[in-house]
Amino acid sequence: MAEVKLTQVNKRYGPVHAVHDVDLTVADEEFVVLVGPSGCGKSTTLRMVAGLEEISGGIIEIGGRVVNDLPPRDRDIAMVFQNYALYQHMTVYDNLAFGLRNRKVPEADIRKEIDRAAAILGIEPLMGRKPKQLSGGQQQRVALGRCIVRNPAVFLFDEPLSNLDAKLRAQMRIELKELRTRVATTSIYVTHDQVEAMTLGDRIVVMKDGLVQQIGTPLQLYRTP
Ligand code: ADP
Ligand code: ADP
Repeated sequence: MAEVKLTQVNKRYGPVHAVHDVDLTVADEEFVVLVGPSGCGKSTTLRMVAGLEEISGGIIEIGGRVVNDLPPRDRDIAMVFQNYALYQHMTVYDNLAFGLRNRKVPEADIRKEIDRAAAILGIEPLMGRKPKQLSGGQQQRVALGRCIVRNPAVFLFDEPLSNLDAKLRAQMRIELKELRTRVATTSIYVTHDQVEAMTLGDRIVVMKDGLVQQIGTPLQLYRTP
């Protein structure tokens, strides 16, 4: 459970001002979608929250704590990537267990967390498989599972559905929406897809050229006047 607060956050890559004075507060358990064209700064913003990218200016707080100088593992976040980032040589079970084993969580507790996540995602029958024996949608479910088992305060999603074909993407969009009702965790979700934004977001942040252009509920932003 945590609020995420960005205050005047900036990112410069040399002359490129990728993110410009972004102010954004994501409430506890709120699901906020960052949307906008390629290159508008969505991913950079998310990666700064994750701690994968240094910030050039401003303050990022998670759960009331300034995290500017904390490494990713100390931020109480979990991130879902476009490319799933699964370990190819490990089974699904070991992929799910990996982060918890790194943290020296006892195996019995790991088992419990994995059973819980697997039931939520419907991936119980896949535990002994390797990633390349899974479909794209199944791999994405495992990637989600890896986040769920950690019970982080915040989920960060970086275009998680953009590698899937249109049909699967539509199905996963519905599944993610459904998942929201079972795992209520503060979430920031990056996509260039307006349908995803409207389906999933409590609020939508529209970015353009590194700036926040608009913030509102799907109804406020997309209802034709
Ligand atoms: P989006 O996620 O909206 O597609 P990004 O956050 O990836 O946009 O990129 C925002 C801007 O920052 C773009 O102009 C991009 O070219 C630039 N950028 C992103 N990463 C780097 C980097 N590592 N080095 C230099 N410029 C970068
Ligand atoms: P885990 O507990 O899942 O092993 P770590 O604590 O080792 O994760 O890593 C901390 C953070 O590093 C992760 O939550 C994630 O945000 C980031 N991370 C993990 N894998 C990758 C990756 N392939 N590329 C970029 N960042 C990653």
